[in-house]
Amino acid sequence: MISVTEAKALISEQIKLLNPIPLALIESSGHILAEDVYAQYNIPAFRQSAMDGYAVIYDDHAQALKLVGEMAAGTSNTLHIESGETARIFTGAPLPEGADTVVMQEKVKISEGKIQIEDQQLNLGSNVRPIGSEIKSGELAMPAGSLLSPAAIGFLAGIGITEVKVFPMPEVAIIVTGKELQKPGSVLDFGQIYESNSYSLSAALKSEGITSIEILQADDDLIILTSILQAALIKNDVVLLTGGVSVGDYDFVLEASKRCGVRQIFHKVKQKPGKPLFFGTKGDQLVFGLPGNPSSVLNCYYNYVLPAIKKLSNKENSVREITATLTHRYEKTAGLTHFLKGVYTDAKVTPLHAQESFRLSSFAQANCLICLDETQQEFAVGEKVNILLLPQ
Ligand code: AMP
Ligand code: MG
Repeated sequence: MISVTEAKALISEQIKLLNPIPLALIESSGHILAEDVYAQYNIPAFRQSAMDGYAVIYDDHAQALKLVGEMAAGTSNTLHIESGETARIFTGAPLPEGADTVVMQEKVKISEGKIQIEDQQLNLGSNVRPIGSEIKSGELAMPAGSLLSPAAIGFLAGIGITEVKVFPMPEVAIIVTGKELQKPGSVLDFGQIYESNSYSLSAALKSEGITSIEILQADDDLIILTSILQAALIKNDVVLLTGGVSVGDYDFVLEASKRCGVRQIFHKVKQKPGKPLFFGTKGDQLVFGLPGNPSSVLNCYYNYVLPAIKKLSNKENSVREITATLTHRYEKTAGLTHFLKGVYTDAKVTPLHAQESFRLSSFAQANCLICLDETQQEFAVGEKVNILLLPQ
């Protein structure tokens, strides 16, 4: 059996970035840019007013000015002002030719039809956005590796970009195994349970912006599971299986993976919950066999699957590891890293009730996982421990 750290390193070693794809800018939220983006135009492309007011020639600022026209945003009018003249102008509008400065409308006095500037702070070029003041044609707008945040997408749209080359999100298949599993909403017969792992996993994947999620269900039958896994491996970058990964008579994930040409990287990790975790690869495809208990599934998801999925898309891990002060003592035997569902507030962390791996009620309230070291047995109140902050 390997340690948690070894398991994480072995997974990380296997990951190759997905091949970049072109994507419509509007579809690219949350992706990482795979190439530098250069500005194709000067933005703004014309001298633009930053205020509602009057376009003037700065040297005229002491004179009473004659109003000769108007420039509104979006106008294609061309207007020329001469010395002694001014034009009404609005935010975003192009300056008339001849003008070099905009006076805010609050800073003028109008008397006898003439405009008198009353602005001690006015300078040459005040309230004018010069050509290319956001960005100049040919300049680097955003380097490869940048996250396409809402602001980044707005910025690129604002400089006229419509398509970007990005690292795609992986396509993921979820295969739940177990003869006992029934869809929520159905009536349960004796011995049956509601299937919940595909719900928690697909919710987690969707919150990462992953849209290609295939959900499949297999009975505890080697032939059926092998053919479902084979089908899932035709197109998906990542296959997540849940259940059937131990050594019981009805646990067929390892054998089915072998028959599908999946190379085992490891099986079993010194951790609780989720000890029987399996990880293998087929070419660049990643196959995770997650132990079936709902809490083990999510524990393994946050510890191993999510960081792997992020790395495929060249994204940073969203599970942050920090330290916190334990509010309750905890005792365990040495040999396994324990992950406890916990609540983190104000630098303190409290383990929740219901830590059993078949239960999700405490996970549903948790905002972190408390990582208790493999070798240590006793954890005192006030002790500093590592925690994984769960993405919200
Ligand atoms: P297994 O790893 O197949 O032995 O499953 C361990 C436990 O998790 C069993 O009690 C299963 O019934 C339960 N389990 C397995 N898969 C699911 C699932 N998709 N949803 C809810 N519980 C499950
Ligand atoms: Mg099972």
